[in-house]
Amino acid sequence: MERADLIAALARIVGPAHVLSQPADLLNYESDGTIAAHLPAVVVLPGTTNEVAEIVRLANRAGVTIVPRGAGTGLSGGAVSTRQGIVISTMRMNRIVQVDYRNRRAVVEPGVINLDLSTAIANDGYFYAPDPSSQRSCTIGGNVATNSGGPHCLAYGVTANHVLGLELVTPTGEVVHTGGWAWDTPGYDLTGVVVGSEGTLGIVTKAIVRIVRQPEAVRVILGLFRNVVDASRSVSAVIAQGLVPSAMEMMDALTCEAVEAAYHVGFPPGATVLLIEVDGLTDGLDDTLQRIEQICLENGASGVRLSKSAAESAALWYARKSAFGAMGRLAPNYYLQDGVVPRTKLPATLARVGEVSRDFKLPIANVFHAGDGNLHPIILFDRRKPGEIERALEAATETLRACIDAGGAISGEHGIGLEKKKQLPLVFSTDDLCVMAKLKKSFNPYDLFNPDKIFPTSRSCLEVQQVRGGLAGEAARAAIGGPEAIAEAGIEAIGGVPSP
Ligand SMILES: Cc1cc2nc3c(=O)[nH]c(=O)nc-3n(C[C@H](O)[C@H](O)[C@H](O)COP(=O)(O)OP(=O)(O)OC[C@H]3O[C@@H](n4cnc5c(N)ncnc54)[C@H](O)[C@@H]3O)c2cc1C
Repeated sequence: MERADLIAALARIVGPAHVLSQPADLLNYESDGTIAAHLPAVVVLPGTTNEVAEIVRLANRAGVTIVPRGAGTGLSGGAVSTRQGIVISTMRMNRIVQVDYRNRRAVVEPGVINLDLSTAIANDGYFYAPDPSSQRSCTIGGNVATNSGGPHCLAYGVTANHVLGLELVTPTGEVVHTGGWAWDTPGYDLTGVVVGSEGTLGIVTKAIVRIVRQPEAVRVILGLFRNVVDASRSVSAVIAQGLVPSAMEMMDALTCEAVEAAYHVGFPPGATVLLIEVDGLTDGLDDTLQRIEQICLENGASGVRLSKSAAESAALWYARKSAFGAMGRLAPNYYLQDGVVPRTKLPATLARVGEVSRDFKLPIANVFHAGDGNLHPIILFDRRKPGEIERALEAATETLRACIDAGGAISGEHGIGLEKKKQLPLVFSTDDLCVMAKLKKSFNPYDLFNPDKIFPTSRSCLEVQQVRGGLAGEAARAAIGGPEAIAEAGIEAIGGVPSP
């Protein structure tokens, strides 16, 4: 189908005002929060589930790829359209459809901004717990697709723990419902499959989510440390004592320098800060705080500061959640990494990140969800200086290697997307990847739905490449169904390896 015909057909589905095809408009959808950039052929903003389904069926007839997109704050290139396809933006589907306080559930459309849900139910004493630092802009649909974490996920759990059911338009254009209002539903846990699938298994058009009662009391303290190693030792020590703060967020000295310059929250010069929040019943909360304070001091804290008011706590949280935005104070460019390690491995991993910084002669700031062992090394560089961008990319890979060596993984919350697909085989065996690829194919048979994401090769056929390269042997051959399956998948030239 010609592009002009596609645009006209989309306009008939959603109305001309909701189809964007001019170059200046398309530029806004060229990338997400990463450096990957590809212009889509067209962006469409449906208003209903039926419109989404019609668009998907049209795209299938036309053989055009589809990329679901929320607010575009993603940090793995997941919402980027690599093959000049259709971007379906969910931003018009932003209704909170139902709030049921008695069952503590809400039904939301995918384009609802994360913080808007908490704001809408705050006066009734409730909130939506998963709170990515981007929560002022990112959407619930994007959160579901990436299984977002956030500062308060330490105590409350990540997005997967808060999604009970989904309405999904599949890559073949059916509208299906997974999960439901109750805790457990019979059959396969398809909600669990879709959460974290990064828009490769369909487009979420509604979500049933848990809402949580606001705690009676909240306290915030700052542990002030000389270095990240002592601070991260304190994190493990607190949890080992059976205390689970609602959040434990680390900002190293470099991050604090930038954050202080930008938001003036009173961080002492040179300090690494552990922002700790505890919540619950008022009775007993001060005891808990005292125990945490004691543990921090025993593990090398130079001091502990209690926030004196809700306003001060809000300012501290604002500064923490805006930390990435302050990085411009330190360098013209930064490259943010996302890895995860077992919490007890934080001190050694952060020490290794420090070595990487020295080896590559690039400053690395660290700001992260320490309680979850979820690191975010931020490599600072100046792309105008020859070779710096390449060094930054290499340094980033080294930080990921440090996470893997520590028994961790290459993403704690941002997902794999385009950015890390080549590294996926570092943490999964061929058999693991084959099972995932087969699952993807059962939802997404033509690979028109968010192609080029998560898996190292196109068309979900990493396994085929390995069979052809003689790497995986009979086990993988059996797992994917042998040469017939390869032929059926239509793979012709992967890395120049001849057909079996
Ligand atoms: C400053 C900053 C701070 C951040 N902090 C955190 C953090 O603390 N924790 C965290 O987890 N992430 C964080 N992120 C990353 C990002 O905000 C999250 O991944 C977020 O969930 C993306 O939501 P979005 O609406 O912007 O999705 P997008 O970027 O538009 O899309 C992300 C992925 O979801 C898919 N997708 C979007 N909507 C749908 C849908 N309806 N159905 C199916 N697939 C869909 C897309 O195809 C893509 O693969 C941060 C980002 C920034 C810029």
